Amino acid sequence: MGPRVRFAPSPTGYFHVGSARSALFNWFVARHAPDGTFILRIEDTDESRDREEWVQGIVDAMAWLGLDVDQGPSRQSDNAPAHALALEQLRDAGYLYYCDCSAEALAIRKGANKTPGYDGFCRHRGLDQGPSTALRFMTPHEGRTIVHDLIRGDVEFANDTFEDFVVARSSGAVLYALANVVDDRDDAITHVIRGEEHLSNAPKQMMLWEALNVASGTVLALPAYAHLPLLVNEQRKKLSKRRDPVATESYRDEGYLASAFVNYLALLGWSPRGDEEIVPLTTMIEQFRLEDVSHSPAFFDTKKLHHMSGEYIRALSLEEFIDACGPWVRPGDGAWSPTDRVPPWSSDEFDADLFARVAPLVHERVATLGEVPAMVGFFFVTTLSYNETDFDKSIGNDPLGQALLAVALERLTDTPWEAPALHDAILELGLAMGLNLRKAQAPIRCAVTGSLVGPPLFESLVLLGRERSLARLHDALERASA
Ligand code: GLU
Repeated sequence: MGPRVRFAPSPTGYFHVGSARSALFNWFVARHAPDGTFILRIEDTDESRDREEWVQGIVDAMAWLGLDVDQGPSRQSDNAPAHALALEQLRDAGYLYYCDCSAEALAIRKGANKTPGYDGFCRHRGLDQGPSTALRFMTPHEGRTIVHDLIRGDVEFANDTFEDFVVARSSGAVLYALANVVDDRDDAITHVIRGEEHLSNAPKQMMLWEALNVASGTVLALPAYAHLPLLVNEQRKKLSKRRDPVATESYRDEGYLASAFVNYLALLGWSPRGDEEIVPLTTMIEQFRLEDVSHSPAFFDTKKLHHMSGEYIRALSLEEFIDACGPWVRPGDGAWSPTDRVPPWSSDEFDADLFARVAPLVHERVATLGEVPAMVGFFFVTTLSYNETDFDKSIGNDPLGQALLAVALERLTDTPWEAPALHDAILELGLAMGLNLRKAQAPIRCAVTGSLVGPPLFESLVLLGRERSLARLHDALERASA
């Protein structure tokens, strides 16, 4: 039987980049083997925090990343009968006890500054189930539990550091630690691959697993564990939802290529052989081994991700690039549109043929697809909007810029409308006014595109056409004298 792995997110918010990395590494393990199984299990048993829309968010983000599942998405909540049965079996076999201690009573008994956790008060009281009795697992006081972690090696925990943790609330609700183990047993999971923050849960879950082997009479081998390294920001601090851009969805919506994002995620704790970091997906799948994942914190470097996305975009053929731009330039047209991203033109103004001719001018110049609309907007909009600072600098507050526009308006009426001829004409009329080519281009660029940065000017003028280009020179002059 091949490896059976699961990605088990709780639907409590945006799809964190750390979750995306966990999903990817599980998927790698499943796809690396000829007969691996990748399971998506939504751990939706925390009613106070889980929301249905986040489930859809997880499913959508995984589809974007291309992480196809072999089983699921299943819901942890659907397995409630199995959780209840396991609870009964553990209780009947003597692994659990009822506890009616309130948090207040516990706090009073312990006083201030004591070690955290439950003091075992009810362990030998022999309580029966009551209206407010939780069920606690009786942890051993002696010995150690060793987690054989594929990434970290053996991690030892002294058993007396574990409190008798709650496995079911007085309401009967089974808590995460047990539900997760029961589901892993039911799904015949062979490898538990998840973030480092779960390492301390592993020994408790191993205890539960082994107790269930006895209590249920079904003896199953423990899964292998692999806890993936923490993701940190530039200051080497754990990524924080508040401070750091951690939502996978936002990278999708900004137009990072999924292929680039996946390649980047793969490097968070792992690296392909050789010097190349940009490698095809098939190579990553082929080379990936949990044993090669590092346990040191991995820097989530948004600059590197941005750079990598640019490399992936440049590696697209022009046709692929035009296709990929679809959702950004034709909202509503594709199967999916980036949320809240509307290009600066209306659908009437957009011209797909013109975009196909414009695309080569920006293909090499963007790192994300989201940068495209602003860069090419001037081709499509009927009413140009100007970057005010750029306008003032190159035209509004610059008499020379205005003079140049006036001359250009005359001269360009009969210049052949081709890039080399436009280059020569603008070079020449600039020189006549003592301006080098760059300086001479500035007011023209701003008049025609609304800004001082953008795609190459002469090619842009050609594509925009003589009539529209000259009309814009005229408009800019009027605007400057208004
Ligand atoms: N539901 C847990 C979480 O979202 C994952 C638990 C696990 O992978 O074992 O963090």
